[in-house]
Amino acid sequence: MSGQERAVDAEDVPSPAPSKGEVHLVHLYPKEMSIYGDLGNTRCLAARLRWHGYTAVVHDHHPGAPWPDRVHLVLGGGGQDSGQVRVQDDLDVHADRLRELARDGMPMLMICGMYQLFGKAFITVEGLRLPGLGILDVTTRGNAKRMIGPVLLETEVGTVVGYENHSGSTVLGEDQAPFGRVRYGSGNNAADGTEGARSHEVFGSYLHGPILPANPALADALIATAAKRATGDFVPGEVDDTFAVQAHQAQVTRLSPRSGRR
Ligand code: GLN
Repeated sequence: MSGQERAVDAEDVPSPAPSKGEVHLVHLYPKEMSIYGDLGNTRCLAARLRWHGYTAVVHDHHPGAPWPDRVHLVLGGGGQDSGQVRVQDDLDVHADRLRELARDGMPMLMICGMYQLFGKAFITVEGLRLPGLGILDVTTRGNAKRMIGPVLLETEVGTVVGYENHSGSTVLGEDQAPFGRVRYGSGNNAADGTEGARSHEVFGSYLHGPILPANPALADALIATAAKRATGDFVPGEVDDTFAVQAHQAQVTRLSPRSGRR
């Protein structure tokens, strides 16, 4: 053995810190509803939970599958109108459960197509009416013209960046809070300056990207609520967000001078 090397005694190896607890995530319909990289939201939450010292357990929920016993956070992504039609029946099976969990403060993140289905209704461009869960007081109508491009928002968790691609134009009910205010992009409908919707701890948004990796404050807001439900507390760990902050800031810098809605 050279002078540079030494034997490592078992007690020199840092043992992994004990987990702060299991946090269970349900990803709704990852096959039918997960376009434009929205699966990255689930991966981001699972990775950040680990970095914070928790054990992440991800349940992919497919149509017809039973609901897992333990759930602390629910995620859903975007999809084609046809994907939304395919998950309708299963969503109906779990409608009461999801409404009850939402009322009870379960954190949920619903993007684009699933955001529309968490609203009161989505009427496709062909006139097909898909009833929603009504957890968010929003109504969406499909249009011939799509809203596509980068987005910059101001929200309760700070500036949020992302990318939108939807034909649905969404209108908020009178007392429905938006998720954010549009600084750049179209948002819900390219007219009223709102983006997404938020009720209790349920966040609905059109933002892909996926939204969470470049918006760590939003990811940690969801994680904090989920960890508290799972373990009674959220004790953050040391997370190196250098790349996340760079990605976030690059889009803020790129879009800010152009500020204004499309
Ligand atoms: N079908 C919806 C629309 O185009 C949802 C699109 C999406 O989820 N990206 O409005």
